[in-house]
Amino acid sequence: MALDRALIFLGPPGAGKGTQAKQIAQSCGVPHLSTGDMFRDAVSRGTDLGRQVKPIMERGELVPDDMVMKLVEERLARPDCAHGFVFDGFPRTIAQATALDGILARRGFGKPLVIDLAVSADMLMRRLTGRRTCSVGGEIYNVYDAPPKTPDVCDVDGGRLVQRSDDRPEVVTERLAAYERQTRPLTDYYRRQGVLDAVDASASVEEVGRALREILKSVKS
Ligand code: ADP
Ligand code: AMP
Repeated sequence: MALDRALIFLGPPGAGKGTQAKQIAQSCGVPHLSTGDMFRDAVSRGTDLGRQVKPIMERGELVPDDMVMKLVEERLARPDCAHGFVFDGFPRTIAQATALDGILARRGFGKPLVIDLAVSADMLMRRLTGRRTCSVGGEIYNVYDAPPKTPDVCDVDGGRLVQRSDDRPEVVTERLAAYERQTRPLTDYYRRQGVLDAVDASASVEEVGRALREILKSVKS
């Protein structure tokens, strides 16, 4: 399934953006661009960027727009982005969304397809505190709802599963507040452009995946 556009997943932390974005990017043969993964990679490598964003991420706040846009603009210039890409966790502010509009236009892409993953707040806490991620390949699990076959070991590559430090309940509260304050307004922004679809993300991973594939099919036809 070709994509030839930007696919954007909106939705609060824990809605399932990464889980779905990885699968869709893989089936479309385009890159999965998670700005959160890129910042965590910078933190773990101890780069200048990593040193700057670490305390911000640990507080559950958003990284400043100029730092995010620099990262994204550099990433989109790479050749693997020529046929589209799936964003996960970007854009997160109106300023990022308007900057992205400009980049997409300059790179010859049309309007993005935006899908809002909607979930209730109590479910988000369970998903975030139960989340575990493979330290090798980044596969996503949940100790309650999507456990690995062997506890703490990745089914795919045997990597050790780790808990993100910002998935502690006190940081989760701040991340959800940042979402409401700075990111939720993007649903109106994209609705006004006529590019927003919504999916009930409280359903199972498989059901959400099915609903997303239906949307992609209808956009293509
Ligand atoms: P996000 O990228 O939006 O923060 P993730 O994709 O990392 O969210 O998912 C958060 C947690 O919820 C993970 O532990 C994941 O395994 C789990 N999860 C994702 N989608 C579902 C779903 N539809 N049903 C149950 N658990 C899910
Ligand atoms: P995520 O992995 O998407 O949950 O992001 C983890 C953290 O990285 C967020 O809480 C922010 O501190 C930072 N981050 C990721 N993407 C962005 C973005 N687009 N804008 C600002 N901060 C971001």
